[in-house]
Amino acid sequence: MLRPAKPDNEAARLEALRRYRILDTPREAAFDDLLAIAAAICDVPMGAITLIDAERQWFKSKLGMDDAPETSRDTAFCAHAILAPQSLTVVPDARLDVRFQDNPVVTTPPGIRFYASAPLLDPAGLPLGALCVMDHHPRELAPRRQEALAALSRQVSQLLELRRSSEELALQLQDRAWYEKKLQAFADALEAHNEELAQQLHLDALTGLANRRALIAALDERLAGDAPFCMALADIDHFKAINDTHGHGVGDEVLARVAESLRAAAGGRGLLARHGGEEFAWLLPGLDLDAALPLCDALRAAVAGAPAALPVTVSIGVAQRQPGDDKASLLQRADLALYAAKHAGRNRVAAR
Ligand code: GH3
Ligand code: MG
Ligand code: MG
Repeated sequence: MLRPAKPDNEAARLEALRRYRILDTPREAAFDDLLAIAAAICDVPMGAITLIDAERQWFKSKLGMDDAPETSRDTAFCAHAILAPQSLTVVPDARLDVRFQDNPVVTTPPGIRFYASAPLLDPAGLPLGALCVMDHHPRELAPRRQEALAALSRQVSQLLELRRSSEELALQLQDRAWYEKKLQAFADALEAHNEELAQQLHLDALTGLANRRALIAALDERLAGDAPFCMALADIDHFKAINDTHGHGVGDEVLARVAESLRAAAGGRGLLARHGGEEFAWLLPGLDLDAALPLCDALRAAVAGAPAALPVTVSIGVAQRQPGDDKASLLQRADLALYAAKHAGRNRVAAR
């Protein structure tokens, strides 16, 4: 037995073979079909579609033989065949061929005597493996059958190529999905970061007013001192109906517009903040209720009188800081006042 030599272009050949990503893949009917046609045309009981890897012969399709998925390259007939990539290899009787006469597949089952193959080539002409047919008896292959075998091997090569490009396309699509996911994660992180920045800046992202955190900090500061101050809570009336009727996006626009009216009416006095949802807070340092009430009513009137396609009003509850107040008790009184304003018919100011 002669060990098959390795072709001069072995490295390039193996690289080409790798590009097909076909080694160790499951059986595919399209390959089995072409092999069955080859065996029928040549009128033989055995055949295979082989790919010659670095040290092994791997079968993409097999007919009339055991199920072993691969053999050593050393005993592979097709490893000899790829050494002549431009021509058919026909071995009429393996027992009379010095390359194969004591090959175990000849001397023991399946007992191959006749072998004919046509190489499988990549578009650059590099041999990847072979389409081969075999018989247990010595025989010849008529020229027309040889031509048919060569034609079928070209079909197998085409099929390999088709399979490779569709695999590549699938991989590219996967890549794209991966990039899109990455990009989304990046955008999300950026948004979260922006939110965090806004928080750090003590600003509410939607209205640009101070946020709750800033309000609480200012409130703590006021409560630590002795000076009088008032705390007003302004809540948009029937805001849920706007969301429900026109959608959340329009709701957001209304929120921003109300904030703008409040800001203009406050004229820089005290600290105006978005307390949460559709509720605003106004911290008025140095003022008692008598002084604060008309200012709050001016705020209310500013919102009610603002020209808008969707007019809205606010109800306002005001509480004056009492001795012994903490944040919770003061906010609770302002909230009770707000509730009273709502209960009395909305678009008004109430105090506690
Ligand atoms: P009331 O006059 O009693 O205050 O009635 P209301 O509908 O204004 O009050 P309610 O508490 O029933 O509904 C408040 C709505 O405000 C519900 C909530 O979805 C909406 N909301 C809160 N925050 C936002 C926001 O940031 N954007 C938008 N579009 N809606 C918000
Ligand atoms: Mg409301
Ligand atoms: Mg509310």
